[in-house]
Order: sequence, then structure tokens, then C-alpha cells
Amino acid sequence: MPEPDLAFRRQHLLGIEGLEAWEILDLLERADAYVELNRQTAKKLDLLRGLTQVNLFFETSTRTRTSFELAGKRLGADVVNMSVGVSAIKKGETLIDTAMTLNAMHPDVLVVRHHESGAVALLARHVRCAVINAGDGSHEHPTQALLDALTIRRRKGRIAGLTVAICGDLLHSRVARSNILLLLALGARVRLIGPPTLLLPHVEGWGVEMHTDMRRGLTGVDVVMMLRLQTERMQGSYVPSVREYFHYYGLTYDKLALASPDALVMHPGPMNRGVEIDGVVADDIDRSAILDQVEMGVAVRMAVLEALTHRARGGN
Ligand code: ASP
Repeated sequence: MPEPDLAFRRQHLLGIEGLEAWEILDLLERADAYVELNRQTAKKLDLLRGLTQVNLFFETSTRTRTSFELAGKRLGADVVNMSVGVSAIKKGETLIDTAMTLNAMHPDVLVVRHHESGAVALLARHVRCAVINAGDGSHEHPTQALLDALTIRRRKGRIAGLTVAICGDLLHSRVARSNILLLLALGARVRLIGPPTLLLPHVEGWGVEMHTDMRRGLTGVDVVMMLRLQTERMQGSYVPSVREYFHYYGLTYDKLALASPDALVMHPGPMNRGVEIDGVVADDIDRSAILDQVEMGVAVRMAVLEALTHRARGGN
């Protein structure tokens, strides 16, 4: 593949916040090409040969970690996985100590997931290499928003002018925050739907609509993005019971019928079937883009790795 002239020239990808629309579009263009590569039998390039990528996960993850690992390997990088939760952090090492230790090993890219909002940005200030935020607390998950945008663009042909509903546990969701920022930057309309206890505070002025009645919120939308009920981030009770939550906010065919007839169903995973989404809707290949999202994830992460290693690969 020829060396592309990517305009995305930042050192880190810490969030969608602050990115220009053209930077997002640049990453999506590049990712589009990787989707095609990933469908071929021979999918390995040597663009990142000689570079070291460390996946540093302070919080468990299956799909995001695997996706970043595949992305790095397909570009020819040496990829190392570190699950810090089980080692140093238990022994009292601070985040800065971890950063300094890693710095001394000269990695070229750090992919970091952390349970605290802002922790990835803090770490980025103490290392010399590129840092990618793979999810920090309930703050941001930029590669998820990029892969969601790629999925929508490929299925719907555009993003500008579409109405996207983001439904469920908005309060605890880094996926929702990154998606809202990205969708608005690319000209989509955004509706947030959830119980009053789980809606996002402080979004007045963002230009989003808020709904507590799911049926009203879904009316006429082009995309329905469901969110996982993140019980691990909840202290106390935000929903009366899972059964009641499913009744009011679970996506069923019955509620989906109010959206536009070809509305796309999405979920970042992992899914709680029968809690935020009916399993039958999730498995409906005509409506659900959930597996497309997983596929797009690898391509988007390849695009991001490529963009962020531009300088390490000798670019200016
Ligand atoms: N996998 C996504 C995240 O890491 C969504 C979720 O966990 O519900 O935020």
C-alpha cells in the first residue's frame, strides 16, 4: 500500500473532543481502505515494522484489546499486552511510575484503558510516545466513536443530516460522550434517550434533544445506538429493576417500529440481552450492524495507528 498523505498529525488520540471534522474524515477514509485489506486472505503489511505497540489495560476488555492487537499485528508492529490491574497497581505503583517504567522500554505507541476519567491524558504527559485512549472511565472512547461512524457511513452512505438516537445508560457511558461529539461534528442530529436517572447532565447548549419516553425519542430516527447498562459503574440504585428497565428502555421490535423503516441498530458490546436489547433484534442481520461494528473496529484502529506513528516512521 503506498504511503498515504494523512493530514491527521496529532501526537496522541485522547478523545474526539477538540478534533476537527476533517481530521475525523481523514481517519475514516484511511479506515475504509483497511476494511478492504482485512477481507483479503493476506492481510499483513509492514508499515509499522520495527515499532513496538504496548496495550496497557487497567480495566478488563476483550474486544477492544483484541482489536488493537490485531490492528497492530496486521500493520507489522511488535505488540505486547500488559494487564496492569493484576500486577504493579496491586503493589501500589502509581500511574506515573508505570508511565516512567514503560518510557524506559522505548515503545512507539501506548494503547491505554483505565477506569478513571482523565487517567490516559495524565499518562500521555509523562511518556514520549504516541498514546491512544482505549477508554477512560466514563469520559471518552474515541476509537469506538470512529468505528461507529464508519459503520454508519458505510451502511447509510452519509452521516450529515441523519438523526441518531443514543439510548440507555448515558450517564456512565464513554461511548455515548465520544459518539455525541463526533456525530455533531459531522453534522448529524442526536437524540439522547434514557431514564431521568441515567441521562447526561450538563449537555444544555450541545444541541442535542433529550427524551425520557423511548417511543417518542425513537420516532423517525435513522440509527438506534443502544448502550449497555453499566452496573459496575453504579453506586446505589439507578433503575428499579432489570425487568422494568427492559420494559421501558429495552429495544424490542415493537419500539423499533417507530424508527424509520430502515433504521440501523447498533450496540458497542458487550451486550446484555434482555436488559437493554432483545436478543432477537440484536441478531437480525437486516437491521443490526453489531458485527459490522466489530469488523470496522480493526480497520479504524489500523488507521489510527498509522496516523499516530507517522513521525516514528520517519515522516515530518
Ligand atoms: N465496550 C464499551 C466500553 O468499553 C462499552 C461497554 O463496556 O459497555 O466502554
